[in-house]
Amino acid sequence: MIDAYGRNVTYLRLSVTELCNLRCRYCMPEEGVPKRSHFDLLTEDEMILAVRAAAAIGVNKVRITGGEPLTKPNILSICRRVAQVEGIVDTAITTNAVMLPALATPLREAGIRRVNISLDTLNPEKYAFITRRGNLHDAWKGIRAALDAGFDKVKINVVLIGGFNDDEIPALAALTQQEPVDVRFIELMPMPGDTLLGEDAYIPASRVLSALPEAVPAGGHDGVAQLYRLPGAKGCIGLISPLSNHFCGECNRLRLTADGHVKPCLHSGDEISIKGLDYEGMVAALRRAVGMKPREHETLSATQRSHAERTMNQIGG
Ligand code: SAM
Ligand code: SF4
Repeated sequence: MIDAYGRNVTYLRLSVTELCNLRCRYCMPEEGVPKRSHFDLLTEDEMILAVRAAAAIGVNKVRITGGEPLTKPNILSICRRVAQVEGIVDTAITTNAVMLPALATPLREAGIRRVNISLDTLNPEKYAFITRRGNLHDAWKGIRAALDAGFDKVKINVVLIGGFNDDEIPALAALTQQEPVDVRFIELMPMPGDTLLGEDAYIPASRVLSALPEAVPAGGHDGVAQLYRLPGAKGCIGLISPLSNHFCGECNRLRLTADGHVKPCLHSGDEISIKGLDYEGMVAALRRAVGMKPREHETLSATQRSHAERTMNQIGG
């Protein structure tokens, strides 16, 4: 469906849980989030109904996210059913990889084509610091499992944090030379409820190019990422710049939270509840959400925080 500013909305980010086995400092509070009653959350059937409704208004790609989607006990069933919805040609997942050793092959068999994995550092102590409870070794085992499972694409998402991992840009980018992966550097977004990492943490993605003089443009962009390539690399380097160069003009997405709220824009508090609606009700609500997509969100910076009114684990990234 085309929105008021001529953008074709074809992409749904479906958050299946707010819960997570990590506590990344930029994403969720250390104490986690209060566990919600089942009555507040979408059931599996409601999620599938929402995906069918989204397909009816022109969505063809679904990314399953969270919280950590692999902690959801029925994740394989959700993935299988989403991938089977008529009109959905691309089903992907975003994960911290920790549970991928057991789940990578079943996810592939369930119809997941592409996997994005969050990994902000190659240093075990820094990984434990930023995730507050993670073990880098576990994440690597998950990445290996994803590479072995035969997905169409594996991407590594790095949240770029000044004073934390900017010194690792060359080493992280070199993963594209060592493995058949894309590495995407994402500017840190100032979200409500994150643990402030300090003003210096917000650095522009252009810093990646300064650190990689040998990177050349790889011709165009992949969704919202501008692409570059290192000599001899098997994968691309992507730069995602929601702060320094926001890409609202190309925003083709809707987000559905685990508690059944459609968000027309990541950085706005506007939401429409679809919990309890039937198929026709969901189609109408999704149409309204597309109609509510703003031309752009307000400028974000270390001092001007997102108006999302939710933490990132409650939205899905
Ligand atoms: N748990 C999964 C994971 O970490 O990949 C999926 C959910 S997570 C909320 C989705 C994405 O949002 C991750 O790539 C994460 O790095 C990113 N993210 C979370 N908080 C962010 C922030 N404040 N700024 C930029 N990216 C953020
Ligand atoms: Fe969990 Fe992903 Fe948020 Fe980290 S970024 S706390 S892994 S939901």
